[in-house]
Amino acid sequence: IVVAALDRKSVLARPSGHSIHQSIMKPIAANIDLLVIVVAPKPELSATTLDAYLVIAQQLGITPLIVVNKSDLLADHPETLERLSIYKALSYDWIETSTLKRDKHDRPILDKFTEYLRNKTSVLVGQSGVGKSSLIRYVNPQAQARVGDLCEITNLGKHTTTGSRLYHLPTGGDLIDSPGIRRFGLWHLSEKNLAEGFIEFAPYLGHCQFRNCCHQNEVGCAIIQARDQGLIHPLRVQNFHELLNKHGSDI
Ligand code: GDP
Ligand code: ZN
Repeated sequence: IVVAALDRKSVLARPSGHSIHQSIMKPIAANIDLLVIVVAPKPELSATTLDAYLVIAQQLGITPLIVVNKSDLLADHPETLERLSIYKALSYDWIETSTLKRDKHDRPILDKFTEYLRNKTSVLVGQSGVGKSSLIRYVNPQAQARVGDLCEITNLGKHTTTGSRLYHLPTGGDLIDSPGIRRFGLWHLSEKNLAEGFIEFAPYLGHCQFRNCCHQNEVGCAIIQARDQGLIHPLRVQNFHELLNKHGSDI
């Protein structure tokens, strides 16, 4: 029995099913406090996934937390931290976790992760195989989240998550396990929204020579100038362009 419907402060939605009307959005979760974006050295970070989630978080007004899981593999993958240092420099909240490394009590080193989730409603997102199910099982031992094996040949994790699930955490708070990343598109975001989602662009937006500047190759583009002056990381501008081009398709 539904006894009350609370106001939605924020809603995470995706285009519904196989509808050709992409504007019909199906809500997945509402009133989310924290968007936990899980990445790992393996499977390798896709070029724009992290940027896309950070844009979504910014647009929905949800605080993002970047969780670098499988920190036990970081030593063998120095390129991962190098890539991710861009985001660290942007002052996003950031923690490293490992569900495999143990402390002296033989417990995984995940205390910070648990602390972040306490008394919040969080959504866990990230590529398949980065360790989301393993993290869920740690914070909620009762959870039956299936841990899939990473397919060694393709480095792609097998899909084990089919529908959204909400777990009540024993430490307080709720954790929502989202369906696969590809179902969240950036369809509903305008070009302007996309640029706003790149938080370090903010001081330069509105300062381009042309009001309708797309920040690609236009003369007098403040974003491109900032990049050329080393004020914005070139990879972020590149990813912005890539997302602009992908706009309307899966991320
Ligand atoms: P999901 O697809 O994001 O839910 O990922 P899973 O939780 O199913 O994990 C995918 C694979 O990564 C499994 O084989 C896990 O055992 C492994 N894994 C999870 N966490 C870690 C970790 O911290 N370190 C390492 N090396 N492997 C991990
Ligand atoms: Zn511009």
